[in-house]
Amino acid sequence: MSDTNSDPDTEETFDAGSLRTPIVAVLGHVDHGKTTLLDRIRGSAVQEGEAGAITQHIGATAVPLSTISEMAGALVDPTDFDLPGLLFIDTPGHHSFSTLRSRGGALADIAVLVVDVNDGFQPQTEEAIDILKRTGTPFVVAANKVDTTPGWNPQEGQPIQQSLETQSDRASSRLNENLYELIGDLSGKGFSADFYWRVQDFQSNIGVVPLSAMTGEGIPDLLTVLMGLSQRYMKEEMSVDVAGPGVGTVLEVKDEQGFGATLDVVLYDGVVREGDTVVVGGRDEPIVTEVRALLQPRPNAEIRAEKQFERVEEVRAAAGVKIAAPDLDEAMSGAPVRVVRGDDEAALEAVKREVREELARIEVDTAEDGVVVKADTLGSLEAMANALEEAEIPILRAEVGDIAPRDVTVAQTAKEDTHKVILGFNVDVLPDAEEALEHADVRLFDDDVIYQLVEEYEAYVEELERAQQ
Ligand code: GDP
Repeated sequence: MSDTNSDPDTEETFDAGSLRTPIVAVLGHVDHGKTTLLDRIRGSAVQEGEAGAITQHIGATAVPLSTISEMAGALVDPTDFDLPGLLFIDTPGHHSFSTLRSRGGALADIAVLVVDVNDGFQPQTEEAIDILKRTGTPFVVAANKVDTTPGWNPQEGQPIQQSLETQSDRASSRLNENLYELIGDLSGKGFSADFYWRVQDFQSNIGVVPLSAMTGEGIPDLLTVLMGLSQRYMKEEMSVDVAGPGVGTVLEVKDEQGFGATLDVVLYDGVVREGDTVVVGGRDEPIVTEVRALLQPRPNAEIRAEKQFERVEEVRAAAGVKIAAPDLDEAMSGAPVRVVRGDDEAALEAVKREVREELARIEVDTAEDGVVVKADTLGSLEAMANALEEAEIPILRAEVGDIAPRDVTVAQTAKEDTHKVILGFNVDVLPDAEEALEHADVRLFDDDVIYQLVEEYEAYVEELERAQQ
């Protein structure tokens, strides 16, 4: 789809090819190097390309194909690709990823799973893999921090494969051992994985790219694999209507001075314009509102400095954008956002129905007795519900949002003592709720690792049961 009709003054620096920009999310265990990798890719893009080599969006950074090919050197020939570039989601971690993906929407299209090559699989690596598996998302593994292997001797400007071959025996055998362990762990999860240069088909095999987010070695290789993977995926899987009414997912609901509650949205299809009617997934009912302003970071503002906005009249997928509109207080992270074109009531009702259906798709089976679950986004709520179901822990109520006094009241009504519990995932406890907790016979567990939260709860149940015997 050509972008030639758009206003030449808009900030969009790349001309869309025939496919829409793939959306890339970065996940992995804490401290394994997700942020460093994203910073590295953004930083190198700015250095390599001319001014404007990246476009900052709300919640995402777009790197155009020409810049990717400069960064990847001989590895990426731009004429091989129909993709305009890659849109990297700025918030690393699988919580934002599950927001983007599990609504059944197309987001994010592909993922980079970052694993510290010395540390191997860790709890959040496992969680991330489970989510990737459940959602059928194509991904590549960034085996990060190769520079920390003793004796490692980087070959500047060379593909990582060549670098590996020229290492001292000590360094390469250590590193190889770790890399093979990683490949083994992936196969234990049901994935056939191998060094990326031995993989023919990245759809059914996972490519492992040894790299260092710190020194930049292996980044060209990673970009090459990402481009190859996206090109195939977007060709085979995506049927998007980039000119149609906008469709997106809420990354975050944020109060912004002068605007009130606003939405940070990743638009993955179509167009949104100022003045458009949009339907947004709300806590109780779909919210119908009108776009008052579309905001993007000011060009050349510090990377990730999100406070300086400029207004734009329209935004096309794929992009991150802040939407300011009335009545957004009840909007939920992870909820769908849809533009309604046309004035008729029937079109609006149809979109409202779609939004309701999309929200109903979150499969949380509640029981008559069970625990109260609160999570930061719809995606993480769903992931929590799945983990609890697997552990055979019943749920009385599951909701998105911080822990409020009402949750304490509800938990208090649970029949079994082991159910008078709130499990909070990545949420805060509101001050009133803290007070309520002090006076109630309700236990709160909060964590930002699902598997740990489940384990903490199980340990508590065991303890209670022992005490009661
Ligand atoms: P995140 O929690 O996954 O986002 O991890 P960070 O990107 O914050 O990285 C955690 C720590 O590891 C930081 O101190 C980084 O500087 C360091 N780190 C990340 N990547 C590399 C790497 O490739 N090599 C080395 N030596 N350190 C790294």
